[in-house]
Amino acid sequence: MSNVPVAVVTGSNKGIGFAIVRALCKQFPGDVYLTARDRSRGQEAEAKLQEEGLHALFHQLDIDDLQSIRALRDFLKEKYGGLNVLVNNAGIAFKVHDTTPFAIQAEVTLKTNFFGTRNVCTELLPLVKPYGKVVNVSSMVSSSALGGCSRELQQKFRSDTITEEELVELMTKFVEDTKKSVHEKEGWPNTAYGVSKIGVTVLSRIQARMLNEKRKGDHILLNACCPGWVRTDMAGPKATKSPDEGAETPVYLALLPSDADGPHGQFLSNKTVRTW
Ligand code: NAP
Repeated sequence: MSNVPVAVVTGSNKGIGFAIVRALCKQFPGDVYLTARDRSRGQEAEAKLQEEGLHALFHQLDIDDLQSIRALRDFLKEKYGGLNVLVNNAGIAFKVHDTTPFAIQAEVTLKTNFFGTRNVCTELLPLVKPYGKVVNVSSMVSSSALGGCSRELQQKFRSDTITEEELVELMTKFVEDTKKSVHEKEGWPNTAYGVSKIGVTVLSRIQARMLNEKRKGDHILLNACCPGWVRTDMAGPKATKSPDEGAETPVYLALLPSDADGPHGQFLSNKTVRTW
C-alpha cells in the first residue's frame, strides 16, 4: 500500500474540474486523480495535462453509477488505504432555453448534482484520512434559490439540526412536487439547478456537523463553495472568470494547511465565508 497522499476530483475531464486538477498537479504533494464518467474523454484530458508537463492519474468515475463509485472506493482503499483530498465538482445544468419538461429537468438535475454527490460522499467520506479536506462545489445560485423558498423551507434548510435523511426527503419531495406541478404551491423556487445546489450546500453543513460529532480528533475540514461565474460549457463564453480563476476557491479549500481549524461546514465564494 502506498503512503503517498492522494487527491480525487470528480467530473474533471473539462471545465472547472480540469482546472482544479491542473492546479493540484502543481501544488498538491501527492497523486492527483482526474476522473471522468467517459474513459476516452478522461484519458484525453490526462494527455492534455501531460503536454503541459503535468502528471495526473486517471480513474473512471460516473457519480450516477453506484458500481462505478464503489470501484473507485475499493481502488483507493487498496492502493492508498484511503484518500486525503476529495473535490466533488461533477455537475450538470440544463440550458435556460431547453424545452425538456420541468419535471424531467428536476429529476435528472437532482439525480446527478444532489443524489450522485451524496452517493460519492457516502462511499468516500469514511475513507478520508485525518487532516483530509473535502470540497463540495455548489453555487451562489443555492443562496438565491434559498431566498426563493417559502419561509418554512428556508427554516428547514438553515436549521442546525436537519438530518441527512430529512434533506434527502425534501430533495425527493421537490422532484415529486414538480411531477404533480405543485412545486411552487409547495414553496419551491422554479429552478431545478438551484434546488439541487441548495441540497449540496445543506448536505455539506450536515456532513461537517457529523464529522464534528463522530471524528472530531481527525481534523478533517469540509466545505461547500461557489467557483464564481466561469467560462465553461455549462456557463458559456460570456462568464467573467477563466476556468483557472474558477478553480481558485475550491483549490484554496482543498489545500488548507494542516494546522487550520477552519473554515469548516461553511459556504464560501472568492475564498470568503458567506452567510447561509
Ligand atoms: P462543465 O464544463 O459542464 O463540466 C462538468 C463536468 O462534470 C464534466 O467533466 C462532466 O463530464 C462532469 N459530469 C457531469 N455528470 C457527471 C457524472 N454523472 N459523473 C461524473 N462526471 C460528471 O461545468 P463546469 O462549469 O466546469 O462546472 C463544474 C461545477 O461547478 C459544477 O458542479 C457546476 O454546477 C459548478 N458551478 C459552475 C459555475 C460556472 O459558472 N461554470 C458556477 C457555479 C457552480 P462530461 O464531460 O462527461 O459531461
